[in-house]
Amino acid sequence: MTLNVPLLDVAAQLTPLKSELMKAIEGVVDSGRFIMGPLVEELEEQIARYAGVRYGISMSSGTDALLAALMALDVGAGDIVLSTPYSFFATVGVVARLGATPAFVDIDLDSYNIDPVALENWLEVNKELIPKVKAIIPVHLYGQCADMEHIMKIANRYDIPVIEDGAQAIGSSCPVDGKIKSSGSIGKMGCFSFFPSKNLGAMGDGGMVVTNDEVLAEKLAKLRNHGSAPKYYHSLIGGNFRLDALQAAVLLVKLPHLDTWHEMRRANAVFYDEHLSGIAGLKTPAITWSRENHIYNQYVISVDSRRNELRDFLQGRGVTTEVYYPVSFHEQECFRYLGYNTGDFPKSEHAASHTLALPIYPELTRDMQLYVVEQIKAFFA
Ligand SMILES: *Cc1c(COP(=O)(O)O)cnc(C)c1O
Repeated sequence: MTLNVPLLDVAAQLTPLKSELMKAIEGVVDSGRFIMGPLVEELEEQIARYAGVRYGISMSSGTDALLAALMALDVGAGDIVLSTPYSFFATVGVVARLGATPAFVDIDLDSYNIDPVALENWLEVNKELIPKVKAIIPVHLYGQCADMEHIMKIANRYDIPVIEDGAQAIGSSCPVDGKIKSSGSIGKMGCFSFFPSKNLGAMGDGGMVVTNDEVLAEKLAKLRNHGSAPKYYHSLIGGNFRLDALQAAVLLVKLPHLDTWHEMRRANAVFYDEHLSGIAGLKTPAITWSRENHIYNQYVISVDSRRNELRDFLQGRGVTTEVYYPVSFHEQECFRYLGYNTGDFPKSEHAASHTLALPIYPELTRDMQLYVVEQIKAFFA
């Protein structure tokens, strides 16, 4: 018997909230206020509080949050921004769009996050370039924080601002200086995405920059609205990065459930960990901190060989999986001009050819998970 197990089931999450969501949407329709407004402000306050920071500046997407964060630091032509070659495209696409040069530092193969030792090495080897490095963007990939304690130590030593790409990681946390800190609250700015597949997903695009820095918060609020304040007086060149009131209304309904959804994802991860850990040739995801710090936006296994065959096999049996991400940035066609070669970032390349994301969404049933486990065992048998 074949069971259909999707990678994500957005409808399953919305069904129990449907009447509440329809009421919230109706409220927006009745208000006639579709751009910014009180709901957007309320969301900004709530997300800032959730992330443990003073300011939340909503944006039209996670991509625009990253773009605006870089613009707030005046990143442009001639500048360098350090990040990882293994992430969603937006992380460094925004760097290149501003005319700056992305420079890559390899990942750690347990967490798939930027390796602080490699970061430190880059800065030591490229001393003459340090004045051009305007930001470091660690990505909290799959919902688990990068090693922020070490990254912040290195960044502070060289006085380079850190922008956290927390698009996959809202609500995740890690230890910094003996305290557990929420992702987004550790660097100069943190960026979140409300793309529907993220743990807190809107019904469309949305994002937010969070920060404790009042000056940056004001600048971000201006940049999001063509750099104007008051209206039609432009002290900066910004863009239209505004969040819709409809998305804010939806997110305000969903936010109170976010921690419960994180818990459900963790429980699903425990189940997979227990049932998949004995399989030779398959590595379950490593927990860098503790399980409570991880929000499991993705549950990503590493397969020693035949990753693509496993993926096809599972698809043939109704189980949808995904490869996040099949090509590292330094091997992307659009970044050929950066002059990197295959082999330059062996760990990212290894991850790109061995990782596979299994369905982990909160509403996944035990029967479905058991089915996924059985199919994987059948493949390796
Ligand atoms: C989703 C994502 C983004 C971009 O967010 P959008 O809301 O889709 O624009 C950026 N970085 C990472 C790591 C992401 O996963």
